[in-house]
Amino acid sequence: MNKPVIIGSGLAGLTAAWALAPTECVLVTPGTLTDNAASMWAQGGIAAALADDDSPTLHAADTVRAGAFVGDTRTIRRITDAAPDVVALLADLGVPFDHTDDGRLDLALEGGHSRSRVAHAGDSSGAAITRTMAAAVRDLPSVHTLERHAARRLLTGADGAISGVEVIAPDGCALVLETDAVVLATGGMGALWPCTTNPATALGQGVAMAARVGARTDDLHLVQFHPTALDVPAFPNPLLTEALRGAGAILTADGERFVHELQPRDVVAAAVWEQLQAGRSVRLDCREIPCVATRFAAVAELCAAHGFDIVRDLLPVRPALHYSMGGVSVDAHARTSVPGLWAVGEVSRTGLHGANRLASNSLLEAVVTGRAAADSIRGADTRWTPQVLPVDPATVVPPSAGAAVDLGEVRAILGASCGVLRDGESLEGAVDRLAELRHDDAGYVAWLVARSALLHPHTVGAHRRIDEQLETAAAQEVPA
Ligand SMILES: Cc1cc2nc3c(=O)[nH]c(=O)nc-3n(C[C@H](O)[C@H](O)[C@H](O)COP(=O)(O)OP(=O)(O)OC[C@H]3O[C@@H](n4cnc5c(N)ncnc54)[C@H](O)[C@@H]3O)c2cc1C
Repeated sequence: MNKPVIIGSGLAGLTAAWALAPTECVLVTPGTLTDNAASMWAQGGIAAALADDDSPTLHAADTVRAGAFVGDTRTIRRITDAAPDVVALLADLGVPFDHTDDGRLDLALEGGHSRSRVAHAGDSSGAAITRTMAAAVRDLPSVHTLERHAARRLLTGADGAISGVEVIAPDGCALVLETDAVVLATGGMGALWPCTTNPATALGQGVAMAARVGARTDDLHLVQFHPTALDVPAFPNPLLTEALRGAGAILTADGERFVHELQPRDVVAAAVWEQLQAGRSVRLDCREIPCVATRFAAVAELCAAHGFDIVRDLLPVRPALHYSMGGVSVDAHARTSVPGLWAVGEVSRTGLHGANRLASNSLLEAVVTGRAAADSIRGADTRWTPQVLPVDPATVVPPSAGAAVDLGEVRAILGASCGVLRDGESLEGAVDRLAELRHDDAGYVAWLVARSALLHPHTVGAHRRIDEQLETAAAQEVPA
């Protein structure tokens, strides 16, 4: 077997590279190691049942509930069971988690969690965790990092299994890395929407590459809107972490509270959206949080950069696309439906999140899936019989030439059809128009998302169909 190739160097890709050692691998990343990784932007932290009054069973139950009871219970159990060890591993590697005065991990409370269970390093937890993992990877002679290279296409042989990756070098030339083992770790796709908290480069290219070679994708319509992005004219929108609400921040619309702030994100996001649609001014009020500017130093800085003082001001907020629960379908070993292709982190669909991700479960998933892929690769079986369901052939669109696509148009279409609230008519129009843009990776992924939303006519978790009630009501109207 040629060296496995890992595409993407956020927490999931870095963990896979680290866990593979001493097996050699190639790590492909468009910038330097941690550039453009959402992992670096995570503010809240990583969830694990570590408190005396907590258990993985409770963590699993909260994950199931937040996910609207459609998550994969075996995956949820596996990942929540692994969580305490993941935090211990990260601490051993040197992540500077915050501790209480008596030396225990300081665990924060976040929405949807019934216990305080989010291990954090100030409010820059993702940067602390990802930098630590990147430093560990840099020390490894087994990892050959190919910086400033972006993967463009996956290559398959006559048997349909992976045979290589085409990457674009800094001079714009394409080169092929031959391998029969690829780990996709390309992160999310939030930048396909007009308002997002994701890096502007998070365009779902991993989903496009995988789907074009016949990998099954699931739940692409299940995207999470974070209820409290700072409502300023910026792309992406700065995030005001959920931990602020856990620490006592309240949401108001025209000065009145309108929602319980610690409900799961889909509930709070929908409530905020409804208030904004009704023309009210929605604000996050952090003024009662003790020492807010020091406890949430990174958020305070983000606010200041946009002219807001977190200590005194009411902060304008709006929902913004934050996380993709769906993605490339994988089994417990992070194996996709294409032999030789693993997917880890946010690009994968493990079933952990169901229809709505529980806060701070995704850094956890990135580490668990990264390690699972590494273990599986070391088992050296790249020609597996897929354990995930077969792909729907209608979703497989090979690459083709075509006119340049305007990303602004793709964003406008997804914003209008696949926002917090959806309806069949807008989705039909979106699917028709996006079908014409599928030669382009962004257009293709947007089409897959809109198609998936159209094919799911019922409201579940973050997928809210406003036409469902109308249909039900119409169906119940019995003609005289
Ligand atoms: C603002 C913000 C706050 C968050 N807070 C939390 C939190 O507190 N707790 C939590 O659990 N989760 C949080 N999340 C979610 C979490 O950060 C992500 O889900 C997780 O970090 C994803 O990790 P990843 O490694 O899969 O992807 P990423 O960290 O996004 O890394 C993707 C990598 O792939 C690379 N890449 C992309 N395309 C290509 C290509 N074609 N070729 C080569 N490389 C490519 C990128 O450059 C990057 O290196 C937050 C997300 C955001 C945006």
